[in-house]
Amino acid sequence: MTHGDADNNGIPLPDLDGAGIETLGVRGGQRRSAELEHSEAIFATSSFVYNSAAQAAARFAGDEPGNIYSRFTNPTVATFEDRIAALEGGERAVATASGMAAILATMMGLLQQGDHIVCSRGVFGTTTVLLQKYMARFGVSTTFVDLTDLAEWQAAVRPETRMLFLETPSNPLGEIADMDALARLAHGNEALLVVDNCLCTPVLQRPFRHGADVVIHSATKYLDGQGRCVGGVVVGSESLMEEVHGVLRSAGPTMSPFNAWVFLKGLETLSLRMRAHSESALAIAQWLREQANVETVLYAGLPDHPQNELAQRQQSGGSGVVSFRLRGGREEAWRVIDALNLFSITANLGDTKSTVTHPATTTHGRLSDEDKVRGGITENLVRISVGLESRDDLIADLDQALSRT
Ligand SMILES: *Cc1c(COP(=O)(O)O)cnc(C)c1O
Repeated sequence: MTHGDADNNGIPLPDLDGAGIETLGVRGGQRRSAELEHSEAIFATSSFVYNSAAQAAARFAGDEPGNIYSRFTNPTVATFEDRIAALEGGERAVATASGMAAILATMMGLLQQGDHIVCSRGVFGTTTVLLQKYMARFGVSTTFVDLTDLAEWQAAVRPETRMLFLETPSNPLGEIADMDALARLAHGNEALLVVDNCLCTPVLQRPFRHGADVVIHSATKYLDGQGRCVGGVVVGSESLMEEVHGVLRSAGPTMSPFNAWVFLKGLETLSLRMRAHSESALAIAQWLREQANVETVLYAGLPDHPQNELAQRQQSGGSGVVSFRLRGGREEAWRVIDALNLFSITANLGDTKSTVTHPATTTHGRLSDEDKVRGGITENLVRISVGLESRDDLIADLDQALSRT
């Protein structure tokens, strides 16, 4: 544990060595204040006090551990950080104001001018914009490659490549990266493998077991899982996270204590939710495949998906995001989306409420036409995030929307 003192005021906390993922989600990182609360407290305070001027000086000098100011550390945020670090099996986590702030802080902390990134083409649209437009302005260039084409990754690596960045499964296409192979490629070139583990969460996939150096989350999605707060987190070794934390301390996109508390409550039900999302998504993917106006279903959990074996090796479930291509173009995609009744039309995913999105005109709308074509973001592509409503109700809704003309 890296934050503050956690003696828990005389009531020992359980030993979590070797504990299961469900136990870590409920108990990981817990600490208790002098009030002996059972549920985690929200420390809604911007600063902390000292018992003397000398102690204040010692804290600021880093000679004494402890809280100073909530841009640096906060006990509620630290509890969330320690819990997600335990879940991922990483040494230390650093929480951020959003998923994008997590990605930005990782790049600012671990790269410098002149460095090069190789990134998969199928990443979150805003990640592409961050790399192409903003990181490039500060002299960090990026080459985009096909997530599943190892030869293309190899060919893109240069002497100055310091980072390989990917999402697996990718959003919205659900493609799977071979993390073990990409970790070997990264480490053979003194580069870091950074994995955005948003879609699977540690419940379904732990990238550190496949050689990743850094794991990133948009906590906004499944970690909260109930569509309430925006947040992010970066997990990795103590030395890498010290650099990422340094960026937050100096640049400021930290997580608020209230949001950290909401995410803590989300983590307590994460394993139950991820299994339920995955089971429903697989059933719906199987059902969609049988429908006449569905051209293809993109979900690696399907047994005959070309990457099913790789997905099985890395994941213990397929996550809740299913995409499909309709027979037709934008008009047909919009018609089906508008005809849905139970699914909410929103760009968010990973919610208890099922959602539907047209990536080409929303989440990926800022990509150039060429990048859309290369990234597989076609006009007939529809993405759903399967929530926790009754599976029968969701299928009935899809059925009436697909068959209505
Ligand atoms: C949403 C998302 C992000 C960005 O997270 P925010 O919390 O919205 O900033 C990054 N990566 C993936 C895969 C996402 O789905």
